[in-house]
Amino acid sequence: MSAKDLRPETQVTAAGANVSSAPATAEQKPPRLEVLPRDLSAYRRGNTGVDYVHRFDSGRPGPHVLINALTHGNELCGMVAVTGLLDAGVRPLRGTLTLSLANVAAYESFDPERPFDSRQLVHNLNRIWSDAELDGTEDSPELRRARELRPIVAAPDHLLDIHSTSQDVAPFWVYPGHARNGEAALAIGHPSVHLVMPQGLGSGTPLIQFGRFGRADGQGVALVVECGQHFLQATSATAVEVTQRFLAHFGLVPAPAARARAAQRRFELLQTYVIRTPEFRFARPCEGFEAFARGELIATDGATELRAPCDRCTVLMPARAAIVGREGVYLTRPIDEAPET
Ligand SMILES: [Zn+2]
Repeated sequence: MSAKDLRPETQVTAAGANVSSAPATAEQKPPRLEVLPRDLSAYRRGNTGVDYVHRFDSGRPGPHVLINALTHGNELCGMVAVTGLLDAGVRPLRGTLTLSLANVAAYESFDPERPFDSRQLVHNLNRIWSDAELDGTEDSPELRRARELRPIVAAPDHLLDIHSTSQDVAPFWVYPGHARNGEAALAIGHPSVHLVMPQGLGSGTPLIQFGRFGRADGQGVALVVECGQHFLQATSATAVEVTQRFLAHFGLVPAPAARARAAQRRFELLQTYVIRTPEFRFARPCEGFEAFARGELIATDGATELRAPCDRCTVLMPARAAIVGREGVYLTRPIDEAPET
């Protein structure tokens, strides 16, 4: 059975342009804030003509790799990884290294009383990487920043976009299902969990689907790493390690010590469900990786019932609050066949 066969009859499309409206709060215990934002003004002036973007050319042949952080303003682990590389003065052994802090404006809006609100100011910076959005006439801080960053994102051979999750779940990769992405993520091996998107995200255009990165016949590895819960120290440690291993995979930094390789678990994205009403609720508490049987109720959204389209349907990135137009949950299923390594 193909993924297409498993898709529910009613496909839900992205509402509007992922602009928030009508926040509705679910009961949530406040997160532990182990990592807090720091002043980034010292990193503003880069050497590329674009604020918060730094580029280092080794002068030797090799790939151009972009490490991008803060696509979402409250996902602090990428900031820790990128500023760590800048502070340490890391320079590529070969090729070119570009380091980017993307949505600093949203990051600077951080309020420890409302730590989830600084994800974005207006638009989700990780859903607007289509030519239509980038060439369009709409305006927002995120659209302006994406337009500034467009040549930065168009330049590298490979890119890693560092993210984190609202819930405290195991780290995982997210990538379009091109063989080149799967091969790189499996070779790097950590995290050991993979969310593969055979049809893309289906809810706007994320950075890793920009231009040729989004095309099956394109070139270049483009991976998201979701490193764990936004504000935990362990999440930042994961971002630092995965960044190092990603750069080492392409030969830009020395290979780190080998780590025990965990069994790789892969999930295929079936549907990205976008919230329609402030009444969106899960049928049972979900943090991520809960499995549902075919037909089992996952969530209700006003009069809409979201039911599992297959057995072992596994939910990823469940929303912590019902915000209309934002993604409520990713429906996936495990990929059973042994991955090629
Ligand atoms: Zn994110």
